[in-house]
Amino acid sequence: MPALSRRHFVALASAGSAVAASGLILPRRALAAAPFLQPPLPFADNALAPVISAQTIQFHYGKHHAGYFTQLNQLVANTPWATATLEEIIVKSAGGEDPRIFNNAAQAANHSFYWDGLKPGGGQPSGVLAEAIERDFGDFAKFKDGFVSHAVGLFGSGWAWLIEDGGKLAFFDAGNAGTPLAHGKRPLAVVDVWEHAYYLDYQNRRADHVRAVVDQLINWDVVRDRLSA
Ligand code: MN
Repeated sequence: MPALSRRHFVALASAGSAVAASGLILPRRALAAAPFLQPPLPFADNALAPVISAQTIQFHYGKHHAGYFTQLNQLVANTPWATATLEEIIVKSAGGEDPRIFNNAAQAANHSFYWDGLKPGGGQPSGVLAEAIERDFGDFAKFKDGFVSHAVGLFGSGWAWLIEDGGKLAFFDAGNAGTPLAHGKRPLAVVDVWEHAYYLDYQNRRADHVRAVVDQLINWDVVRDRLSA
C-alpha cells in the first residue's frame, strides 16, 4: 500500500464527519468493503437551492451517484476486489485493464467527497486553511477566482480539485472520473463540472454555476478539517 494511503483514508473518513455527526451511516463503514453503501446526504434535497435545485439533487445523488454504487458492487462481487476498501480499489485499479472498476469506484467516492464538502451558505475559511490560502494565494478573493478559472477551464466532463501537495495548496485537473487519490495527492475540495451537475439549473452556463458553488456552497470548515487531519 502506498505510504500516503493512510492520509488518504483519513481524508475520506474526515470528509464524512458531517454525516457521522448526524448519526446516520458512517462513511468509514459504508466504504470499508463491498457491498459499498451510498452515504446519505448531509443536507436536505432542497437545502442548496437555488444554486443546486432539489431536482438536480434527485437526479445527481439519486440516479447518477447511486448508479455508480450499483455498478461497482456488481463489478467487484466475487472478485479479489470484494474485500478491498473503496480507496484501495481506486488506488490499485487506476490505469488497470478494466476501466469500469476504477471509473465506478472513483465516481462513487468523488461524489461522496463532493456532497460532504457542501453546505447552504458555505462560509469563510478559518484556522490552518485561512493561513494556507493567504500564504499560497494572497487572499481569499484571489484564491476563489483561481479556483473558478481552473474549473471553468477544464475541458469536457470532470472534477476541479483543490489539493495539498508538498505542503502547499494547489489546483488539480481531473477529467471524467479522475481523482488526486490515484496520483498520490491529497484532496481537500472539489467542484463537479460534469454537465449533469448543473444543466437543469444553469444549462450551458458552467462559469456561473461554478462561481455560485465556490461563493455560496463550499463548506470551508470541512475543507479546513481535511487539511488539518
Ligand atoms: Mn456528478
